[in-house]
Amino acid sequence: MSGPAGISKVSIVVSVYNEQDNLEELNKRIAKVLKEINHSNYELVYVNDGSTDNSFSIIKSFVEEDERIKLVNLYRNFGHEIAMTAGLDYATGDCIIFMDADLQHPPELLPQMVQKWKAGTDIVLTRRTDNLDVSWFGRMKSKMFYKVLNALSDFPIPSQFPDFRLIDRKYADVVKNMKENNRMFRGLISWLGVKNQVIMDFEAPPRFAGKSKYSTRKLLSLAVNSIISFSIKPLRVASYIGIIAAFASIILGIIFTIDFLTSKTYQFTGYGTTIIMVIFIGSVQLIVLGIIGEYLGRIHMEVKNRPLYMAELFLNEASAKIQKK
Ligand code: UDP
Ligand code: MG
Repeated sequence: MSGPAGISKVSIVVSVYNEQDNLEELNKRIAKVLKEINHSNYELVYVNDGSTDNSFSIIKSFVEEDERIKLVNLYRNFGHEIAMTAGLDYATGDCIIFMDADLQHPPELLPQMVQKWKAGTDIVLTRRTDNLDVSWFGRMKSKMFYKVLNALSDFPIPSQFPDFRLIDRKYADVVKNMKENNRMFRGLISWLGVKNQVIMDFEAPPRFAGKSKYSTRKLLSLAVNSIISFSIKPLRVASYIGIIAAFASIILGIIFTIDFLTSKTYQFTGYGTTIIMVIFIGSVQLIVLGIIGEYLGRIHMEVKNRPLYMAELFLNEASAKIQKK
């Protein structure tokens, strides 16, 4: 626990990608709730994930008005997961709260989260009881996403737990040291297996403004990345398919031989069966190669060991001077 008045510092990390119409409202509401609980030792870290609208200049104006606000400006769009990582890297608080910029994570829950943390909880998770925003198709997409993910992942990654969560500094440091390129925050935190955590239920309101930034393509890529970075089950599935196909062909071979020896009119002649078998085995091989390729590609990317992102930090002038001293 640190801070000027001896009160612990709370960091709030907000990832922003083209959220110009949400920022004013969000900033106002966060400041309001923190004022109400009289918690002045906090910092608000906005991560601008390469927005192409006015988000950058809006956040910059916040920074100029309030020394507790920081802007981590990513050079281009690196995606939500990396944006959160950048926020975590620049956050200096004793606990870190992640939230979205679209007000689907109500700032009004912050006081309760902080209170739970002060009472000694290491991780405060939130659970959506209902997502008023999402269409039937969106709901189905996310359901499928978690079904497949959980079937293949080595440990549970439950749905309904958004990225809106509080993490104590000691675990934040552990997550900071996980430098893998393809990452999924929810998974990394679930991997920690922290027992000292509480769950807060809330009803997710619709987006305040704008549209969801997760297209089907982004969700699909997140799904593939998450499965591959948390499990080697798909490789095992490939071997199983191989074993099953081998058995099937042995049994088929036996049937053909018996039929050849016993029946007078031998049935299994012709190219049909041969061609079907060749295509079947060929496609199984291609699928398996593809799976191996996905893993190999990941190894290739990780071995290069590139930085996860490129960013520039913007601070309020007054606070920048303090930092320089
Ligand atoms: N976001 C981001 N980079 C991206 C996509 C999204 O930083 O490439 C941010 C976005 O601005 C929002 C949060 O991540 O604050 C969640 O995105 P969104 O609300 O679009 O997702 P949904 O709530 O629909 O799952
Ligand atoms: Mg949202």
